[in-house]
Amino acid sequence: MDLRIFNSLSKKKEKFIPIEKGKVKLYTCGPTVYDFVHIGNLRTFISGDIIKRVLKFNGYKVNHVMNITDVGHLTSDADEGEDKLVLAAKKSNKSVWDIAKFYTSAFKENLRSLHIQPSDKLPRATDHIKEQIAMIRKLESNGFAYISGGNVYFDTSQLKKYGKLGGIVEVGETRIDEDKNKRNSHDFVLWFTKSKFQDQDMKWDSPWGKGYPGWHIECSAMATKYLGDHFDIHMGGEDLAYIHHNNEIAQSESSIGSEPWVNYWLHSAFLVNNDKTKMSKSKGNITTLINLEENGYSPMDYRYLTLGTHYRKQLIFSRDGLDSAKNARAKLNQFVLKIKSKPIKIVEGEAYLTQFSAAINDDFNTAKSLSILSKLMKDSRLINGEKYSLILKFDEIFGLGLDDLGENIPTNIIKLAEEREKLRAIKKYDASDKVRDKIEKHGYTLLDEIDGYRIIKSSNSN
Ligand code: AMP
Ligand code: ZN
Repeated sequence: MDLRIFNSLSKKKEKFIPIEKGKVKLYTCGPTVYDFVHIGNLRTFISGDIIKRVLKFNGYKVNHVMNITDVGHLTSDADEGEDKLVLAAKKSNKSVWDIAKFYTSAFKENLRSLHIQPSDKLPRATDHIKEQIAMIRKLESNGFAYISGGNVYFDTSQLKKYGKLGGIVEVGETRIDEDKNKRNSHDFVLWFTKSKFQDQDMKWDSPWGKGYPGWHIECSAMATKYLGDHFDIHMGGEDLAYIHHNNEIAQSESSIGSEPWVNYWLHSAFLVNNDKTKMSKSKGNITTLINLEENGYSPMDYRYLTLGTHYRKQLIFSRDGLDSAKNARAKLNQFVLKIKSKPIKIVEGEAYLTQFSAAINDDFNTAKSLSILSKLMKDSRLINGEKYSLILKFDEIFGLGLDDLGENIPTNIIKLAEEREKLRAIKKYDASDKVRDKIEKHGYTLLDEIDGYRIIKSSNSN
């Protein structure tokens, strides 16, 4: 079955064709580690996880790189404001390195609790200064960089086309002030030598003097280092497309000297609050995963909530919505526990698998795949074993940990139960009863059901 994905470059759904058969190289922009990420950021990281899981579901071997931004991201995505990490360090009287370390581990903890599969590489910008300098030098020698006012800038006027992803914001349309050092309004900083913050710890020697990199160059340098000069998919939140990603494309293709750098660009839409304002640290309207947990919600309730809205649609976050997700997930868990049995080959339920694959392969439509799940749960024609097997298959994408619900039955008990099934199949009932007694002695009870057996912990055992 074809996988079709919406490519922000063409603004169309396209058939996914990997560069190398059976393999996908995927880069997702990671967090700026100056604070706890909020659930809006996490929505984007869950979307990235779904994309990766769908690729794997289709049999692709995925090589995934996500960066950690620990330098150079100013309070505006353009070149204005202060370095987010430096600001956080000043406020808390800690070093920037401590801030980065603390929030990187908090981020990893969030990923774990949301069942977001870790990337193969999680490179930090500050560990790749050499690569960033090398890329800027290449841009200089290819005629795409100039020095002005102490900083090194990318010269967009040297490009045939700047802004391949569209949506370019013109100066004057935003509150961003024009930087007088720039020759053209869309030019951007590659290297700051005239640091705005003289007391900053994070500075490195460079051919242009002591300084630090602009934000965009880190992704270009690290993606190229780990995934090469041409790779399959690059993704991030929708706000990254117009400045960060347009700039990444400009500097990567100009330093590499060929195009396209990336075949498919994917962008996940914002999470907004009930009043439709974007959740954002600068607006002070954020909720973190810890806040949700303090209020009695599991990270899985939040993951379930995000599955209900297509990744390219805004997710409107409200307590009511989260409560519905929590209730729906509790019902799903109860259902799975009730039908939990030995996974079997899917025969009668094949149509469900086809429908499910069609939904997720249609630009990662998790909302539709959830409705297929609820249809499956209600279908009285299917035996529990098949339903359970299908649900586990669906959960390869949902990532709700449905294979891990309830007590873990030890393997020796499962072996005994299977031995008893074999004896019953050849009508050796005395022998099969003896095995059942043995299972009881171990503190487990076998329940015979129309489509097989179920093992539960005996109520008198502990
Ligand atoms: P940052 O830490 O600011 O670099 O952002 C990390 C990721 O979160 C980026 O991919 C952003 O596009 C994304 N992001 C930021 N705010 C939101 C939001 N309200 N909803 C969804 N994604 C967001
Ligand atoms: Zn990036």
